Amino acid sequence: MLYGALEAGGTKMVLGCYDENGTLLDRTVMPTETPAITFPKMLDYFKDKGIGALGIGSFGPLCLNPGDPHFGAIGATPKLPWRGFDLMGEFARGLGVPVALDTDVNAAALAEAQLGAAKGLGSCLYVTIGTGVGGGVIVDGKPIHGLMHPELGHMLLVPDPRDPMPQGVCPYHKGCLEGLAAGPSMEKRWGLSAKELPDDHVAWDIEANYLAQMCFNAILTLSPEKIILGGGVLQRKHIFPLIRRKTLSMLNGYIECLADSDLSDYIVEPGLDTASGLTGSYLLARQAADN
Ligand code: ADP
Ligand code: ZN
Repeated sequence: MLYGALEAGGTKMVLGCYDENGTLLDRTVMPTETPAITFPKMLDYFKDKGIGALGIGSFGPLCLNPGDPHFGAIGATPKLPWRGFDLMGEFARGLGVPVALDTDVNAAALAEAQLGAAKGLGSCLYVTIGTGVGGGVIVDGKPIHGLMHPELGHMLLVPDPRDPMPQGVCPYHKGCLEGLAAGPSMEKRWGLSAKELPDDHVAWDIEANYLAQMCFNAILTLSPEKIILGGGVLQRKHIFPLIRRKTLSMLNGYIECLADSDLSDYIVEPGLDTASGLTGSYLLARQAADN
């Protein structure tokens, strides 16, 4: 059987086709326009490949509660044409094969837990810091859902006293994690993008404070066995030691099993590089087929 994988992003759609062994046979990318334009193109791609199941890791918010009448649909996204689009239902009807849907970050976390940096562990947290901040959580080998799914990119933080823009830019919450620490927030605050800011700029120490607060909150609420940080902003690898040091300092010895480490094995880069999203969608397709 062939498996279809879709990584649905706000700017681009990545589509792939995998074989039984998990080998990626084909991959294509198309821009995310409106559902009327983009959905038929995606449908044609997967029909042409003759897939037996499809997995989707998508931007959200998504309705993932099977008891909800909107199960499988996109929720209140700022991408207005996609609001309310029944992503799972449209593909299931259009292809006539089993379809599984989860958030892009839950899919990435699943791939990291099965094949990447958290391989062999039952739990992990995957956070991407890019245009926005999103987090996926695996517990007992499965992505967390519940009411809908975690939205930990919007957790509230204590502003850094050195931050010249502590009010943040999130349209919903202003100074939440995404409002303070995503790429666009850094660029607005400093007039330079995360790519351009020099290593020794105070921006990085403030950014590390915000990401360490997130790690602190996540360790104490979710107890993940590994924290994986990715996305465009985290391409600047020099921030990792700063985040680890600040997280340890905030924990202040409270989590004993972490207290004697420098966290270099605990707060880590993705093991699958930028492939975790699509790989996770493939793993979702396998689950859909098995169910
Ligand atoms: P998206 O979140 O849209 O999937 P990215 O993860 O690449 O895409 O995030 C884009 C953001 O990351 C932008 O704000 C950009 O400034 C920042 N960014 C992209 N590449 C780099 C890089 N090499 N170093 C630092 N920041 C980067
Ligand atoms: Zn927010």
